[in-house]
Amino acid sequence: MRYEEFHRRSIEQPEAFWAEQARAIHWRTPPQRILDYSNPPFRQWFAGGETNLCYNALDRHLDERGDQLALVTVSSETGQTRELTYRDVHREVNVFAAAIRALGVGRGDRVVIYMPNMAEAVFAMLACARIGAVHSVVFGGFAAHNLALRIDDATPKLLICADAGMRGGKVIAYKPLVDAACEEAQSPPPHVLIVSRGLDPDLALVPGRDVDYAELRKRHEGAQVDVEWLESNEPSYLLYTSGTTGKPKGVQRDVGGYAVALALSMWSIYDVRAGQVMFSTSDVGWAVGHSYNVYGPLIAGATSVLYEGLPTNPDPGVWWSICERYGVRTMFSSPTGIRVLKKQDAAWLKKHDLSKLHWLFLAGEPLDEPTAQWITDGIGKPIIDNYWQTETGWPVLSLMPGLELKPVKFGSPGLPTPGYHLRVIDEASGRDVGPGEKGVLAIVPPLPPGCLTTVWNDDARFLDSYFGHFKELLYSSLDWAIRDDDGYAFILGRTDDVINVAGHRLGTREIEESVASHASVAEAAVIGVRDELKGQVPVVFATLKAGGEQDPRAVAAGMQDCVVRQLGAVARPARVYVVGALPKTRSGKLLRRSIQALAESRDPGDLSTLDDPGALEEVRRALERGA
Ligand code: ATP
Ligand code: MG
Repeated sequence: MRYEEFHRRSIEQPEAFWAEQARAIHWRTPPQRILDYSNPPFRQWFAGGETNLCYNALDRHLDERGDQLALVTVSSETGQTRELTYRDVHREVNVFAAAIRALGVGRGDRVVIYMPNMAEAVFAMLACARIGAVHSVVFGGFAAHNLALRIDDATPKLLICADAGMRGGKVIAYKPLVDAACEEAQSPPPHVLIVSRGLDPDLALVPGRDVDYAELRKRHEGAQVDVEWLESNEPSYLLYTSGTTGKPKGVQRDVGGYAVALALSMWSIYDVRAGQVMFSTSDVGWAVGHSYNVYGPLIAGATSVLYEGLPTNPDPGVWWSICERYGVRTMFSSPTGIRVLKKQDAAWLKKHDLSKLHWLFLAGEPLDEPTAQWITDGIGKPIIDNYWQTETGWPVLSLMPGLELKPVKFGSPGLPTPGYHLRVIDEASGRDVGPGEKGVLAIVPPLPPGCLTTVWNDDARFLDSYFGHFKELLYSSLDWAIRDDDGYAFILGRTDDVINVAGHRLGTREIEESVASHASVAEAAVIGVRDELKGQVPVVFATLKAGGEQDPRAVAAGMQDCVVRQLGAVARPARVYVVGALPKTRSGKLLRRSIQALAESRDPGDLSTLDDPGALEEVRRALERGA
């Protein structure tokens, strides 16, 4: 079917459309109502239906593909690779489920999971899903304080952690962080379950609270745990947003709608069907990890590849060697990840046989044209920009090569995916803008299946954060967008990233793209800084590529020239700072609000998701030193 027809039907006849899609998953009890929208903007998809994510991910495939690989974990940190069939994962998840049940976890109880990209993280998630417990995966390596905040928000019955993670060969012990977090938290979990890889020689268990998984596993060997059938709208998991714009929001996901949306996206967007292989470089702690390292590929009966390690270790060809080895059909990564490779020799992209690879999807941040061009030339495959949010759980904007491949346009994540009725709204008037005009991207409710049902324990924040921006009831995460005559959307950054220079509204993104087109620039962050004369002026912080021009003054002048030539003198950066690293969230997003705050001598705000405090320190020093 053609894209237009498919999408139109999803908007005009949502109940018929989603009733059809719902057949892709197993229902213990069929839904009584496809959509219950009696309490807007809250909505219930597949109300009354009973299903289970773990059953759909594992049990359902055992007869037909029990011996097919379900999960491959490759770690360039420990040097270990594990290849697990559906039967293997099913067995391990049953044991894990029996173990956590023995620790008193049941339906509706929360479980915090604090682990790196290792097979047991997947087992733990699926084990929770199996028994109806609500998991909250916290990115491994978040500091103790962060973990404590999430513990207090979720009030878990259990915390499952690894003894340690590794980054670039360095062991990061998790257990001391867990201990500190439990100390700080108001409602620490009664039990901590530790999966040890023997990385931390000083691992010490707290008697009465801590349990070693290896021991528990022995006790439950061969266990079979019945699936807990959940009503479609019961919570499946909690997951926090990246905290780019402020304090992270606890996204609450449902069961049935999520499973149906993932099933649809796997074939129609990612073009991955049963028996095929998907490799996402995400961490399990992010939305992409949940949807496309764990639940999506398994619900589809595909093979999921999970990678632990840096993209440059043991060498910058490591991702492509994985593609070659496992015959990856679809790969998923982020612009940030590709920019890391861009600092390396492009020859690494040509070293491996990528004949099985069809698509590379990138999501999470604006994909600048120079990076898109570089990777397209490098691997010779279509690069598909994907726009979505932790909140939505699956793409909002994408091309859909599994359905019909439309032309790739650099700079655009493409067209709305099924169920997303999008509008671009003028902030001031609240009216729709026309093609080529900038406005705020909004989703007309009801939100489609897969999107958040609310903010955990905080309906008021749900209403306020997403539905409180316009007179009409519309969902928006405040991204700035423009649509062209073909309906392709371009995301220009966030509305609070707009720079107003003497009445001209410029997106940070357009200036960043322009700056990044300078041959020596690896990555740039552009912010608006208060200016007496012009209101605001653009200020650039940039990192440089190895091997290019290194003189900061020469590069700065070159960047300013690029911007003047491409966007006009009005967008000319007032100051350019060359730094060694840019401050980012743990999920790889530029923390422009914090850079801006420092540049305006304000407090940098919530830094709970800041990845590398050193990078922010560098910005501070650069500002003191002057451009
Ligand atoms: P918070 O909501 O806590 O401030 P966040 O919005 O960064 O953090 P995420 O859910 O990780 O949390 O990110 C979603 C946001 O990422 C989108 O709203 C958008 O701003 C940006 N984004 C994601 N994909 C793309 C893309 N392909 N192009 C442009 N921007 C993107
Ligand atoms: Mg957001």
